[in-house]
Amino acid sequence: MLAKREDIILDELASIVGKDNVTAAKHIRYAYSYDLSFVKPKMPDYVVMATTVEQIQDIMRLANREKIPVIPYTAGTNIGGLCIPERGGILLDLKRMNKIIKLDVESHYAIIEPGVSHAKFAMELYKHNLRWSWPVGPPSASVFSNALCHGIGGLSGRYGLNSEEITSMEVVLPTGELVRVGSCAINPEEWHSVLPLPQLDGLFKGWLGTSGVVTKLGVRVHPLPPILKVFTVSCENMEDMYSYMRNLGNYEICDDLTAVSWWLAQVPIPYPYKPKPDNEPEWFSFATTFSWTEKEKQAREEIWEMVVEEEQKKGSSIKKTVYPEEALKARTQLPSKIVGTTKNYCKQAGGGISWPGTFTPAKYWAKVYNEWKKILIRHSLSPSVRATNYRGVHYGMLRAMIPFNKQNPEETENARQAIIECLRVDLDAGGIPYKPPVDFALEINKRAHPGYLSLLKQVKKLLDPNDIMNPGKLAI
Ligand SMILES: Cc1cc2nc3c(=O)[nH]c(=O)nc-3n(C[C@H](O)[C@H](O)[C@H](O)COP(=O)(O)OP(=O)(O)OC[C@H]3O[C@@H](n4cnc5c(N)ncnc54)[C@H](O)[C@@H]3O)c2cc1C
Repeated sequence: MLAKREDIILDELASIVGKDNVTAAKHIRYAYSYDLSFVKPKMPDYVVMATTVEQIQDIMRLANREKIPVIPYTAGTNIGGLCIPERGGILLDLKRMNKIIKLDVESHYAIIEPGVSHAKFAMELYKHNLRWSWPVGPPSASVFSNALCHGIGGLSGRYGLNSEEITSMEVVLPTGELVRVGSCAINPEEWHSVLPLPQLDGLFKGWLGTSGVVTKLGVRVHPLPPILKVFTVSCENMEDMYSYMRNLGNYEICDDLTAVSWWLAQVPIPYPYKPKPDNEPEWFSFATTFSWTEKEKQAREEIWEMVVEEEQKKGSSIKKTVYPEEALKARTQLPSKIVGTTKNYCKQAGGGISWPGTFTPAKYWAKVYNEWKKILIRHSLSPSVRATNYRGVHYGMLRAMIPFNKQNPEETENARQAIIECLRVDLDAGGIPYKPPVDFALEINKRAHPGYLSLLKQVKKLLDPNDIMNPGKLAI
């Protein structure tokens, strides 16, 4: 009797990674078929744990020849269904490739493998008094994937997105070819910069695993000043908060300048929606600053005092606020052990969480938030919204963290519809969603310039002629 194609592929995968590192067992495939988000589960056909670059090259050659989809995966915490296989195929789990290959404490960069978690990276960096822009996400998630997907973290106010910290890359293309971009392409020992070469790293950043498997990443790291001071204020509305954040942001004294709505400040986020008590402010802000000396800290404090006073003179509802120690830890003890644990986000809700996560011009934050609030409350969901400045004040992250009951299909669909509605409002106001689930990608593409879509398709075709890399995610 002829062997089934699936069995032949399974054997071939086993010959590449060893039979203990590949499976088609249903219960394992099931575990990789869903995430926290509203995106519907779909099963991969195989789960493969690779440990070397050569194995990844062989897997890609096989997949390309057989036209089998490949989905790169590290921890699956992206809350956008980005690792849920649209068309089955090989779920390529890279978490065992978790070496910090080099930490150059003199030149301030590291070379890492895909599976290096935030927890592991932090342990190594803190030994050398260095730091990274930690997201408020699970410490088990990958530093590498976060940077590739334009993640944001506690230093985004100062240095921008984590993808802007990438200095070099090694990548296996969908054909199995090994390529390099940045300084490591010219001198294999040097991983310090993508510039002044053509910025080919852009072919792999923000592509959600649809253009190649990145196997090594150079990232900048930064010194950790000893004196931390978080300035906290509260106010009644987003208009006042935006004015304060714009004013303070102009002085560029913060590593992170973030505002959270009352609902996001609750642990856990209320689900279903519950009204805010009348005597509580609607918005809180954390301005995280680090200083080398007491004098430097005092200078920052002087600027902050001046900004608060200026805002109050304008008639703003901004007030200095003492924020509970436990909640402050979530801003400063990163990688987060507090808010970042998903149970704190969604334990009232039955395990589901999704977001309309966007980059939105700051001047539209109030307009978009006020619309989002109406939509979310109409759907019995909390307007648990966060706004964060990126490297200055002209635009930043505006996102709502939406817990929902994933056990119940109607409640999941309710959250999905509310989130898509919110997203349309933001796109109309000039915002762009990040780490977009397919539902968001469809909305983005509806509005896209035809030349943008045409270029995207051409580049995708060039890199991935058989459309095997995480197919369907770009919705083109
Ligand atoms: C409660 C909570 C809070 C969060 N807060 C934040 C936050 O503050 N900031 C933030 O940025 N994110 C946040 N996140 C999102 C998420 O944790 C991060 O984006 C995370 O770093 C993703 O890492 P991961 O290992 O889970 O990636 P995965 O989900 O495994 O992968 C993400 C994407 O990268 C692709 N990919 C993975 N490896 C490769 C590779 N080697 N080559 C090419 N493509 C690859 C995958 O195909 C997928 O498209 C939060 C998540 C949760 C649950």
